[in-house]
Amino acid sequence: MLSDKELLHFISTENREETEGLFKSAQKVREEHFGKTVYFRGLIEFTNYCKNDCYYCGIRRSNTRLKRYRLSREQILECCRNGKRLGLRTFVLQGGEDSWFTDERLCKIVRAVRAEFPDHAITLSIGERSRKSYEALFKAGVNRYLLRHESADDKHYRAMHPPEMKLPARKECLFALKEIGFETGAGFMTGSPFQTPQSLLADLRFLAELEPRMVGIGPFIPAANTPFENHPPGDAGLTLRILALTRLLLPRVLLPATTALGTLTKDGREQALAAGANVLMPNLTPQNVRKLYSIYDNKISNNDAAESVRYLVKKIKELGYIPDCLDPADFIA
Ligand code: SAH
Repeated sequence: MLSDKELLHFISTENREETEGLFKSAQKVREEHFGKTVYFRGLIEFTNYCKNDCYYCGIRRSNTRLKRYRLSREQILECCRNGKRLGLRTFVLQGGEDSWFTDERLCKIVRAVRAEFPDHAITLSIGERSRKSYEALFKAGVNRYLLRHESADDKHYRAMHPPEMKLPARKECLFALKEIGFETGAGFMTGSPFQTPQSLLADLRFLAELEPRMVGIGPFIPAANTPFENHPPGDAGLTLRILALTRLLLPRVLLPATTALGTLTKDGREQALAAGANVLMPNLTPQNVRKLYSIYDNKISNNDAAESVRYLVKKIKELGYIPDCLDPADFIA
């Protein structure tokens, strides 16, 4: 068991031997539990409307410069069909907190996806909702839910969110999701403004307490037209160390090599896989709205879905990993 002192040491160390040792241990633990398999999840960013005003996020409600979009049920189903053709078996529907998507409307969409794709997993990532809402969505066929806790350090959480957003409320959602039976994901950004080693320690300790099935960790990247637009981005090395520590604390966790890390550093996602990550999330969002889901600047978004799945599969095979998705080469002439 890693002590607080050891965790703080690894959070901060830049010593090459130490960090390489850390990444090796994390990779070993990953391999013990998952072998060389890398899991693919198809991401569908289905709305950029948001009623929240997080200081870091490019789709916050106060960003009036952003053109807003919302996909229809048929467009969402079309993304899923495309994902299935590419061999993906999980659809992650992510969006801002968009009040247009009432329980009734969302459940209708979920039931349609569930009916057409009975063997696929459906993941939602649409923020805080009531327990009743989560229950209805679970009943409609959602299997998993991603809700990053963003920061387990109350002071830091308050420095990144307007006063109406509260850490205890977010935590309560996470525990409710778990209780209802979702495979639940938490997570946070690294290198966000006002984050300290102590806040990262609190994040790791919170993860160990919650024991989520999934943990999303990526660097903060400034987004234009937000209060944090002039803050520096997070650091790739720190992100990799935190990923590795998360793998050591939660050996069986599903841990994405995030697009944010790939955006920050070329080969960032590959480095993450070598530091204990085991999930990739290619984007299935239609090309014409992709640029509008601008939670941060310069997000990788130029490839279409087929191209990016094919690229990622080829890349990780070259590195000796086994993609869990069916080989898209078998599907696309
Ligand atoms: N509305 C949903 C989805 C939010 S977007 C929710 O509340 O869960 C998914 C994640 O992107 C967020 O949880 C946040 O951690 C991350 N994110 C937002 N702005 C970012 C930025 N500027 N840099 C890096 N990651 C960011």
